[in-house]
Amino acid sequence: TRSSEDDDLPHATKKKMADHLRKYESLFTLTPQRMRMIVEAFKESLETGLAKSEQIVPMIPTYVFGWPTGNETGDYLAVDLGGTNLRVCLVTLQGNGKFEITQSKYRLTEEQKQEDGQKLFDFCGECLKAFIDLYVDAGTIAKESRLPLGFTFSYPCSQNSIDHGELIRWTKGFGAPNTEGHDVVKMFRQSLEKHNVPAEVVALTCDTTGTLIASHYVNPKTRIACIFGTGCNAAYMERVGDIAKIKHLGIPDDAEMAINCEWGAFDSFEHENLPRTKYDQIIDESSNKPGEQAFEKLISGRYLGEILRLVICELIDEGVLFLGQNTYKVEIPYSFDTAFLSLMESDPTDELLMIIGIFSHFFALETTLAERQFFRALAKLVGRRAARLSACGIAAIVSKMGYLEEGCMVGADGSLYNKYPGFAERIHEGLHDIFGEKGRNIITYHAEDGSGIGSAIVAAMTKQRKIAGLY
Ligand code: BGC
Ligand code: MG
Repeated sequence: TRSSEDDDLPHATKKKMADHLRKYESLFTLTPQRMRMIVEAFKESLETGLAKSEQIVPMIPTYVFGWPTGNETGDYLAVDLGGTNLRVCLVTLQGNGKFEITQSKYRLTEEQKQEDGQKLFDFCGECLKAFIDLYVDAGTIAKESRLPLGFTFSYPCSQNSIDHGELIRWTKGFGAPNTEGHDVVKMFRQSLEKHNVPAEVVALTCDTTGTLIASHYVNPKTRIACIFGTGCNAAYMERVGDIAKIKHLGIPDDAEMAINCEWGAFDSFEHENLPRTKYDQIIDESSNKPGEQAFEKLISGRYLGEILRLVICELIDEGVLFLGQNTYKVEIPYSFDTAFLSLMESDPTDELLMIIGIFSHFFALETTLAERQFFRALAKLVGRRAARLSACGIAAIVSKMGYLEEGCMVGADGSLYNKYPGFAERIHEGLHDIFGEKGRNIITYHAEDGSGIGSAIVAAMTKQRKIAGLY
């Protein structure tokens, strides 16, 4: 169907938009050959990270030793400080892979992300206190006097034990001063003490490590876990003997330890391997951490909307879009939410009514059908590139670990993976483009809640190890 408004659009403008779309197609499309080159470079970065400390991709030893048995039991608190929310949970592990969970979520404000770090941890402490008063009965606490707590802190921390972690750098737009270089467990413990919270931090984990453990708890074929949310990252289980940088600790070679890759940092600073467009460069240069998290900035939910917004702004400047309309709202940085891309891609109507709604409601802009089709095509390019790059990361771990032949399951979580239409399918298509038919042996699935359940399981595993007197 042709819409009458569409006919109103000057023919020259339509032609210009078609030309532009072709240009963006070539900018944002990754060929299988290019993907394979990225995988090779990625693999090398992972290996360098295991060999030496302080590399671009940090490959952090997590002190989570081996897989859970499924027989972990008990009551645990879990606190998850993520990119968007703070979540507080009470988890009861019942054994046999079963569990119960009660939780509360608090949205973090942009101000909180920039305030002094200790204040941020104090807020976590306060929320936890309120949660315990509401949901945890005194009997449960009386048993141990203090409840064991797993702290999920989804930022790169270098660890030298399970309950210690120095923040290497903030990511995802956080900038709280007096935190980088500090032990975040120590800071959090101070906040717990200050608010008289009856909880003892026994384990610090990253969301990916938690997801790895929780996914394996319910699906033992899981070998890798990924987060595709506000940020992006992966974790997997490594042979201790293959982590050269911790040889001096004297842990037996054949023990296994989870590695938090922090792969969002791939290609940071040098920018030698990833296909960055000028929009990606603008995002990087205007971010609070220029040069850093190069891979993450092309992929994660914090940035995808912004990439598309920058393309739109360029076309406004060139006089291609919204002639004669006031465009100030869409010119505000980060005003274009990544959720809009999801909606645009999933709009089921011929007239693209949801896209009309987004532009009129949030940006006070009128759109023609041709423009809406163009925006949808753009969203698809940006979303597809993110998924195909994600496939490159997964492929790098698969190929490094030799998982291709027998295949493996990849537990994945995060808003992009769960809500962006077709994200998983595009990852799978990407794996097929990289590996050919065998790529079909690598299957991603929606993971078990890593930062709640996973964190509790890690806390339980830690307790068992302590009792057994293991390294
Ligand atoms: C952080 C990781 C985290 C990922 C997903 C990244 O920005 O550095 O630690 O796992 O986001 O939340
Ligand atoms: Mg999270």
